Amino acid sequence: MPHLFLPSAQFSADSAQILGEDHQHIAKVLRMRLGESLVLLDNQGNAFCATLTEMGRHSSTAQIDSPLSLATEPPLRLIVAQAPGKGDRFEQVIQHGTEVGATAFQPLITERGVVALSAEREATKRERWQHIAKGAAEQSNRLFIPQVFPAIPFREWAEAQEPNTTLLLHTAPNLPSLAQFLERLPSLPPSLTLAVGAEGGWSPTEVSQAEKVNLALVSLGRRILRTETAALVALSQILYHVERR
Ligand code: SAM
Repeated sequence: MPHLFLPSAQFSADSAQILGEDHQHIAKVLRMRLGESLVLLDNQGNAFCATLTEMGRHSSTAQIDSPLSLATEPPLRLIVAQAPGKGDRFEQVIQHGTEVGATAFQPLITERGVVALSAEREATKRERWQHIAKGAAEQSNRLFIPQVFPAIPFREWAEAQEPNTTLLLHTAPNLPSLAQFLERLPSLPPSLTLAVGAEGGWSPTEVSQAEKVNLALVSLGRRILRTETAALVALSQILYHVERR
């Protein structure tokens, strides 16, 4: 059944208005018809089973049938902080990271990050990234759309982190593995943040800054993963560890 996030303002007590791109999507792409069922979500933690009752050229209406309980959110917040790489790498991280269970994405401006964004270009990109997160959240039955934060410089970000719950994924030898870090956790923290380097990795200055503010440097093993693969492997390991309990 299709899942659709709508702005809260489009919900009334017993129906919801589906407008703009969402309407075009259900009408033209999914080719939905009157009487068909869908799941509507308000991105505030509420999901509803609904039935299409009106379809016009520019909008449609769905009757709310019943609340729906969706237990698809991970048991902790998972934030992926990453330098947007070349091409569509960051888009892939958002798309697949949302499917796997990420809660938010923090673009980082790093020394070896290849993409320099003007403020205007960043705003356009962020709108696109947020749109990708919405589509992936709908596709994977999430209850919330992961948020994409404005890009910030690495140092500023590092200084604002909680030492015990922020992990810097790094390729240096002899680091503890992510699995070891997870096994040593005394209890489930409310959130974990993963920082993933650009294609060229972290600069020595960034590694020192991370060590200075006591971020946990961890390895994902002996093989070097592409930047867009590393985030997904780390998210999967964390969710395997916390959801198998
Ligand atoms: N030559 C770079 C280096 O050695 O740091 C390669 C960087 S790798 C393509 C991009 C990022 O993915 C790394 O900065 C790190 O955050 C993450 N990464 C990739 N493989 C990893 C591994 N085996 N362990 C930990 N992090 C890894």
